[in-house]
This record gives sequence, C-alpha cells and structure tokens, in this order.
Amino acid sequence: MKKRYFMLPFLVLSLIVLIVNSNKEATNRSIISLNREINYPFFNNKKLDNFISEYLDNYINEDNNDILIDYDYYKEKDKYYLTFYKYFVNDNILKENNDFFIIKSDSINKSFSNVFKYDFINNKAIDDNDKFIALTFDDGPNYNTNKILDVLEKYNVKATFFVLGSKVEKNKSILKRMDDLSMEIGNHTYNHLLLTKYKEDKIKDEINSTSNLIFDVIGKYPKLLRPSYGSFNNKIKKISNNPIILWDVDTLDWKYHNSKKITDKVLKNVRDGDVILMHDIYISTVNAIDNIIPILQKRGYKFVTVSELFYYKDISLEKGKIYGFAR
Ligand code: ZN
Repeated sequence: MKKRYFMLPFLVLSLIVLIVNSNKEATNRSIISLNREINYPFFNNKKLDNFISEYLDNYINEDNNDILIDYDYYKEKDKYYLTFYKYFVNDNILKENNDFFIIKSDSINKSFSNVFKYDFINNKAIDDNDKFIALTFDDGPNYNTNKILDVLEKYNVKATFFVLGSKVEKNKSILKRMDDLSMEIGNHTYNHLLLTKYKEDKIKDEINSTSNLIFDVIGKYPKLLRPSYGSFNNKIKKISNNPIILWDVDTLDWKYHNSKKITDKVLKNVRDGDVILMHDIYISTVNAIDNIIPILQKRGYKFVTVSELFYYKDISLEKGKIYGFAR
C-alpha cells in the first residue's frame, strides 16, 4: 500500500509533463474570412500545416453559409486525430458536419465524414436514424382542438394544423395557443370550397384572406397550403405562394368517428417520413392520438411539424409543388 502512495507525486508530475508536451503540439489559431470565423491548429510542422491550410482554403472557397469552423485534435502514440466541425445555420436549425482525419507522421487519411444535425430550438441532436412523422390536423380550430393540443402537450410532440379562415375568426385564442406550443400552422383556405370549380380571383381570395388572418393573429404568414379536399389543378398550383402539402396516410377519422379504427389504421400503415391526415375537430381523433403517440414513440418515431419533416429528410419544399410524404 505504502509503495503506491509513494508513486503518486511521480504520476502527477508525469501527467503535468504530458499536458505541457501535448500543448506544444499545436497552437490554436483563428482567422476571419468572408465573415466566417475559422479556428485551426498550427503544428509548426510543414507537412501538417500545409495539409490544414489546403483543407481550409478549399473550404473557404466553397459557396456555403457556414458560420464557423472549430476543431478538436488529440495525439495518441504516433497519430494525430483531428476533427473539423463545420456549422451551418438554416431556419434556426444548426447543422453540423464533421471531417475527421487520422494523421500519421508519414501519411494523412481522411477516415470518415459524418453529418449530424442539431435542433437548437429544442436543444437536442437529431439522429439521422430517427424515424420521423408529421401528424396533420385539418378543418379547425373548434372546441375539440384544445383537447388535441392537450394531448400533444402531454407527450411533448409537435404537429401541423391546416386551419380554415372561417374557423380562425371565432377561435383566435386557440390559434395563439398552437403557436405558443410551436405547432406549425398551415393554410386550408377560408370556406372549405372545392377550389377546382372556381375562377382565379375566388381561389386567390380563399387562400390570401386566410393567410392574412393567420398573420393578424400570430404575426407570421403560413408557409404551407393544403387546399380543401386536397384537390388541386394547375391554376391552384400557379396561384399558390407555398408548397402544397397532401398526405400519404388517410385515417378517415371524419367518416368513422372510431378511435380504435383510427389507431389501428395508423399503427398498421405508418412509415418513416409519413404525413398523416386527421382532423382536430372530432373527439374520436383526440382519443386516437392519445393511443397512437406513446406507442409510436416506443417504436422510435419522432413527431415533427411538416416543415421540420422535410428539412430533416433533406427535401426542399418549393412553391406550387405537391408533396405527400418525405422520402
Ligand atoms: Zn378539410
């Protein structure tokens, strides 16, 4: 026992020597180029320093929106392990891209490139292996919408509501609550007409009056359009300032009013990247999502808004185009 304690000062001393030595291996330097702050290690070793400056030169010349580069490196035996972290920001979501190098004294190998995303609104990393789905609720808001929101809040999940202008008029506080809970709000037109039967002016009016009303209540214009009945033609596609979001799992909740049936339908058909159609105006739908959400969470599904779903799947949404799922 005594012998071991006797060794302790030597261990501490060697540790200090080790730290001092490893600090000598590279100096942290930083340059600002094209408004990007770039941190890089400087090794005072021609081969390594040339390699790094070439890597950074290429990087600076790329046409991208990075905000900064940081790095992490450590040495083990005769190898340096060096990872550059590149950060991008898009729609308030920080995307991170790593380049990892193993540098031996005589060779440099890029080992892997790993991309992962970080959602800094919710403060969590997004794993690309995660399964994502978007629940969408049409035709509200009405008195049942608050119950839908209660369930979503209980499980801490997000969803998208395609609202009718005519219903928003009478339920502005519910729309505000959706927005407070970070739900996405999309446009489902004003009067729920079969738009394909109408002329351009009427179609514009149905869409724009709803967008303006949503803006009046929450201070943001909707970014998504779901035409009533999901019906569209070239005229509607041309008029829409937003992508047109349909669905690929239809629960037919409006038809059955049967929470068991809705639950079974979703659990049987759901796949990663699905957009699920429901209606927030029926109590059977409230009860169904109270069953569905915890079961799918256990199966590894993450419930996100429609915009997030497409973002996480790297699919860009373009105005006037039709989308039914994100795969
Ligand atoms: Zn509808």
